[in-house]
Amino acid sequence: MAKYEFWFVVGSQFLYGPETLETVEKRAREMAAELSRVLPYPLVYKVTAKTNKEIADTIKEANYRDECAGIITWCHTFSPSKMWINGLVNLQKPWLHFATQYNQEIPNEEIDMDFMNLNQAAHGDREHGFIGARLRKPRKIVAGYWKDAEVHQRIGSWMKAAIGVAVSKDLKVMRFGDNMREVAVTEGDKVEVQTKLGWQVNTWAVGDLVKEMNAVTESEIDALVAAYTAAYDVATDNMTAIRYQAREEIAMKKMMDAEGCRAFSNTFQDLYGMEQLPGLASQHLMAQGYGYGGEGDWKVSAMTAIMKAMGENGNGSSAFMEDYTYNLTDGKEYSLGAHMLEVCPSLAAGKPRIETHPLGIGMNEKDPARLVFEGKAGDAIVASLIDMGGRLRLIVQDIEAVKPILPMPNLPVARVMWRAFPDLTTGVECWITAGGAHHTVLSYDVTAEQMHDWARMMDIEFVHIGRDTTVEGLEKELLYNDVAWKLKEF
Ligand code: MN
Repeated sequence: MAKYEFWFVVGSQFLYGPETLETVEKRAREMAAELSRVLPYPLVYKVTAKTNKEIADTIKEANYRDECAGIITWCHTFSPSKMWINGLVNLQKPWLHFATQYNQEIPNEEIDMDFMNLNQAAHGDREHGFIGARLRKPRKIVAGYWKDAEVHQRIGSWMKAAIGVAVSKDLKVMRFGDNMREVAVTEGDKVEVQTKLGWQVNTWAVGDLVKEMNAVTESEIDALVAAYTAAYDVATDNMTAIRYQAREEIAMKKMMDAEGCRAFSNTFQDLYGMEQLPGLASQHLMAQGYGYGGEGDWKVSAMTAIMKAMGENGNGSSAFMEDYTYNLTDGKEYSLGAHMLEVCPSLAAGKPRIETHPLGIGMNEKDPARLVFEGKAGDAIVASLIDMGGRLRLIVQDIEAVKPILPMPNLPVARVMWRAFPDLTTGVECWITAGGAHHTVLSYDVTAEQMHDWARMMDIEFVHIGRDTTVEGLEKELLYNDVAWKLKEF
């Protein structure tokens, strides 16, 4: 992910004379260099903009350059905003307006009219804010002193959301088989999704995957099985099943890499010519950053890939998840999430075990090998993208993952247990009211604020279920959203 950078575009004008402009540029370079040391991606100083053309040219270049994942603007001095219009109307990259100031304190003795002319962010950033609002451009606004750790954290967090935008616009999803028969929520308009989010979602024949599997060599399998046994405990004698999963992983990876796909989906209803539903295979691919969705759910697969890329080091602790069952005892209200096999080991609290068990669903000739583990404790979110017909809605709920309160020794799959906010039953009522899916992406290192930033940059509806959400309030919000999004279509 190191290829991405962000551009620092500083607003000014000729009014103050060359000396002031030199100081602005010197300081802007210093700020970009120092911020680059503490932010997750480099911030590259681009220009102290004084004319319409300088701004328009910089934004044209930002749009064109793949490595530029977004721009950060700031007005050290007053920068009249009409000269930003021609550039900003064409801006296609994420935009953060950083309302900051070079000096932290007002210097009692030093302050005079020269100081006032040079340090004008307090009104320069308001002029800049007006044109963003007037143009209805999606932007993130972060205000605060540029050396504050909290400011760094907020800008860094936005940068990762902007990386999610870059990954989304470039994302290819490989579908093996169609969606599970009769399921509604895993459906969606692929043309709409490609237009809005950039995703190229296409299908490949399971027969072609089987052909690729048959071409995998024993030595390729030996190498991958060695990687499995180095990373995981082997808790089965069935090495044949593990080797078969390795064969599936190698074949799927070759096909995805040949097409540049970073996400895939498959379905237990279409495994023609395969002995096992990929379990360990899908889990180990997810651990490498590939997105996955079960039952043909290409939307959750794509979201998993994007949220992984938004996480720590470009492959964070985010995974395909499914709400399975509840514990409804008073005071011990928890959700239990799992899937029939495919939970990413990036969620694991300890070292996962490779086990083999029968799978009582779908067309499995042999018992599939899978990783079994408990999810770690910690603050997290679950996210679901649904197609409302005419628009996309992203629903995010805050949760707190806990160490599972029961050992569940006969449950043959990885499991995560969590407390939902505002509480389990209100949360369920809110989630169902909003139409959220049973499939989600569960993430420990992407926040609701980052998902909100991402949704704003992608121009899709965002619904957040958090500690203060009520069903009544949410119903109103959804009604207003419906009206607003219908108006936006015209
Ligand atoms: Mn499922």
